[in-house]
Parts: sequence; structure tokens; C-alpha cells
Amino acid sequence: MLAASDASTVGIFLDTDPRRQAVCDAVRRLAVDAGMAAYLVGGPVRDHLLGVPVKDLDVAVVGSAPSLAQKLAEVLGGQLKVHPKFRTATVSLSQFPRRSISVDLVTARRETYSRPGALPDVEPGTIADDLGRRDFTINAMAIPLSGADSDLVDPHSGRADLEAGVIRTLHRDSFVDDPTRMFRAVRYEQRFGFRIDDATLADMQSALAGGAMATVSGPRIDNELGRLISERHPLPGLRRATELGLLAAIHPAMPTMAHWDALDGWSSVPPGAQPADREWPATWDAALFWTMTHDQVASLAMKNPYRTRRCRYVDMLKEGMPMLSADGLLPSEVCAFLDYPRPEASAVYALTVALAFAEPVAAERIRRYLTEWQDLQPHLRGSDLLELGVPEGPAVGEALKALRKARLDGVTRTRQDEGTFVLQWVPPSE
Ligand code: ATP
Repeated sequence: MLAASDASTVGIFLDTDPRRQAVCDAVRRLAVDAGMAAYLVGGPVRDHLLGVPVKDLDVAVVGSAPSLAQKLAEVLGGQLKVHPKFRTATVSLSQFPRRSISVDLVTARRETYSRPGALPDVEPGTIADDLGRRDFTINAMAIPLSGADSDLVDPHSGRADLEAGVIRTLHRDSFVDDPTRMFRAVRYEQRFGFRIDDATLADMQSALAGGAMATVSGPRIDNELGRLISERHPLPGLRRATELGLLAAIHPAMPTMAHWDALDGWSSVPPGAQPADREWPATWDAALFWTMTHDQVASLAMKNPYRTRRCRYVDMLKEGMPMLSADGLLPSEVCAFLDYPRPEASAVYALTVALAFAEPVAAERIRRYLTEWQDLQPHLRGSDLLELGVPEGPAVGEALKALRKARLDGVTRTRQDEGTFVLQWVPPSE
């Protein structure tokens, strides 16, 4: 399963990507000059060993990460952001073509938890300390970037777990210390097709039973859920998180497996009613909070304005369902209800079409809205209206609105019809 042939070759890793190699070389030179030890750690080491594309770079520095980061930003012309409180820094290198690279540098540290679920107290430490604070064995490996030694630092047998496809925590209290690791475990398990080790699973269940999730702040939950739905294929992770009881531990009104089963309806959504690529995150977000009211979501204090807005649409849509199912509703009346800013709205609507519990008549109207009516505009433009004698000013906008309504409801069909319509049209009185 592993791509890198043996541990002694990992020190020269990344030479397949000259851009990241250049960054690693720069870190190496600067660290040696400053008399610090620098290591590549966490995700990039894991992904490199797995042979999957490495994204951004994580570097642990035994010394001062902010000062090394500052030099790196100077040498490579990157943008520097320092977090003095955590002794960490990020260098963003946007000058690389195709995709920018971000380098996260942390000062190697030891962590202790004053209370479960809180952010940890940190103090400088060794690379062993730094690996010992990490979530899973597969994320607790390091490759030295400076110094003569290039062997993989692997004190928790992460490489063996990577080979066996196992997600394992480093100690039994790991999920109590930081319950967000439960979501991380699910993410890696589903992304790589791994399995969570039995003892780790048992620790997760006992942490959940002990109410660990309640110790996590809303914004941290928000972050984890956001990462879960940002995976390439979110559904398996969402199902697994539900099956393990992670969602119910956040709020009892969060989705059950039946909700995700209902989403099989996606396959029957016609292509035109599918959300556009850029709308998918909003759609998954709506799917995740679909079973909750806006007030229930607000009680989680996630402080995410996009989600708040989206949940309002969901509430509005659920309330509007009987109206959208009523006999004889005109297309323009459907539009008057559904015309909201995109992309949130259309993502939510597409989801409604997909869900088996949506009213079929309403679902069909939403589908037609998404595929036909949403973008339907009159043939005539503002300039045509001026030529027809509509006075300049708000009347032009009113006339265009009336024309769209007429076209939606089949009152007009051709450009000529619209000309006749405008000549008879009387602007609504103030
Ligand atoms: P991804 O590929 O999903 O971005 P990543 O491994 O790069 O995964 P990050 O969230 O960027 O993950 O974190 C970087 C590293 O920091 C992880 O590999 C892990 O070693 C450590 N880490 C992150 N979050 C935690 C946590 N909650 N507890 C312990 N260690 C963590």
C-alpha cells in the first residue's frame, strides 16, 4: 500500500514536485543556518508515504517557528502570518503557478489539557513531545529536513498502521481530551478506506457515553463538520458519523440514517436541477442541518453566518411546502416565493427535490423553477422599453418585472407579444 520504498529514502522526498521541493530545501538551509531542527510532520508525511498527492506543508521546528517562518517568507517572497500566542506561523506562497502553496510552521511543543474539550496549554518541547500530542499514529510521523539524519521519526508505529490501514489514537484519553478527533477519525477512515481500530472505537464510544461532545465549543464543531462535508465524497463520512452517534451527540435533532437513505433520491434529480459545482458545499451543508429548525441550529452557537442564512432558507422552504403544493399555482407565484440570492437558495431547493419526503407536487415545481423558470427573462430589454415610450426611471424595472411574470405564466410568448403587452401595460400605482 505504501509508495515510498523504505524509510531511508523519505528524507529526499518530494523531489517529484519541484515547487514543494524548493520550499523544503529553503526550510532546510534556513534551519541549519539558524541552528534549529526542522521536520516535515503530520499530513504531508502520511500522504507521501501513501503515495497520494501532498497538499500543503506542515513543518515542526525545534526552536522558533515564527522566526524561521519570517526568514522563509523573506527568501521565497511569501506572505507571512504569525500567531504569537501559539508560536506558530503560516507562509503563503502564491507566486507558484497553478496552485499556491501554504506552509504551516509550528514550534515543537508539549500539550496539556486543563479540562476536557478545551484548547490545550502549550509549552516548547522536543519533536517526540510534538508527535506525542497528535491525534493518530498515522499523523504522528516526522521526516527531518535539517541535520544529517533523514530517517523517518515514527515513535508510535504510524507507518505500520498506515500499511495495515488502521486509525489508532496515541492514548486512551485522546477523545476525552479533544472530542473533535472523533470526526477526524471518521474523515481519514472514509477518505483512505481504512478502519478505526477496535480499542480506539471503544474509547470513542465511552467518550460519547460520558458526554464528551458537550465540552466542545460551537465554532470547533462547525469547523469539523465543515471539513467533513468538504471531503471529495461527503456522504460516506456523514453516514459513518451518524452511525457512530457523533451527530446525535451534537444535537438529538441532527440527521439519522433514514435521512441519508432518503438522499438516494439524488440520482433521480435531473441534471439541470443539480446544484452547480460551486453550490455543492452549500447543498451538503443544507443536507446536514435539514432535520433541524433554524432555532435548534442557532442553539449550537456555531457563529457561522452562511449557515445561519442557509438554515433560514430551509425553514422558509419547509413552511412554504403546503403553499408550493397548492392547486393552480402559477409559475410566477412559484418564482415570487423561490427567487432568492444564489447559490444558497438553489442548493437548498435542489436538495428538496432530491429528498423523498418532499411533497411531489412542490418538488416538481421546484425542479421546474431550477431548470426553466429561474433564469427566464423577457425578450425585451430596458432600451426596447424606452423606445416603446416607457418613461426612464423605476417604470422600466417595473415593466421588466411585469414582462417576466407574463412570460412565465404564458401570457406572452414572442417578442411581438411583449411589445403589445407593454403598450397596454399600466405601471402599478404608488
Ligand atoms: P488533511 O489532509 O485533512 O488536511 P492533515 O493531517 O493535514 O489532514 P490538519 O488538520 O491540517 O490535518 O492538521 C495537521 C496535523 O496536526 C495533523 O496531521 C495532526 O498531526 C495534527 N492535528 C490536527 N488536529 C489535531 C487534533 N485535534 N489533535 C491532535 N492532533 C491534531
